[in-house]
Amino acid sequence: MSWDLKEALLHASKNVQSARDQLCDLDAALGDGDHGTSMARSFAAVERELSSTESNEPADLLELVGNTVLNAVGGAMGPLFGSAFLSSSTALRNADPSLSSPERTAAAIAAAANAIQRRGKASVGDKTMVDAIVPAAEAAATAAGQPDATSATVLRAAAEAAAAGTEHTKELIARIGRASRLGERTLGHQDPGATSITLVLESLAASAGA
Ligand code: ADP
Ligand code: MG
Ligand code: MG
Repeated sequence: MSWDLKEALLHASKNVQSARDQLCDLDAALGDGDHGTSMARSFAAVERELSSTESNEPADLLELVGNTVLNAVGGAMGPLFGSAFLSSSTALRNADPSLSSPERTAAAIAAAANAIQRRGKASVGDKTMVDAIVPAAEAAATAAGQPDATSATVLRAAAEAAAAGTEHTKELIARIGRASRLGERTLGHQDPGATSITLVLESLAASAGA
């Protein structure tokens, strides 16, 4: 990989911590208002762990992020984000050596999407982070197949699809998780978890130079 994943993950960690209040406000409208607190606490721990690890191996770094997030907080986001990073690490470790670097990046994003769906049992349209990560994985796969693909173009495509999916959550009624208790009152509000997914992908894309 020609870009520095550790730097990119540190950049994402800083952006998540800066978005704390915005993410709490979104979750206040749809849930219990703690999403920004959970994300910020998790990614403060991620920043500490990344800063003190010697490894620069992408699979090691993603595994470290996954375990740190899993251990940092409870709630819905800990296990969902944690397993997403752990599965993306496993995907890189098991990747066919013949895959190009952009194909590997797309495979890691696909593994994250699969992990979130497996763990949370939400589908596209339920108004969750699935509405960001699934289109992101699809866009990443398409981008990886382009002749001039790089990890940066794959991450850029993923971030843009996640942003569009997140915007679309405003038009959805929550059907799973805490927000589902509010039913139609969730219309017009953007899902916090989808917003976080977009923020992380956007941060990684920006760090990759896309
Ligand atoms: P909690 O709801 O436990 O307070 P958070 O506020 O940290 O947890 O996270 C809420 C976010 O988690 C939601 O915005 C949604 O994107 C996501 N979420 C909740 N349940 C699920 C699920 N079953 N599958 C996927 N994402 C989910
Ligand atoms: Mg919450
Ligand atoms: Mg909570």
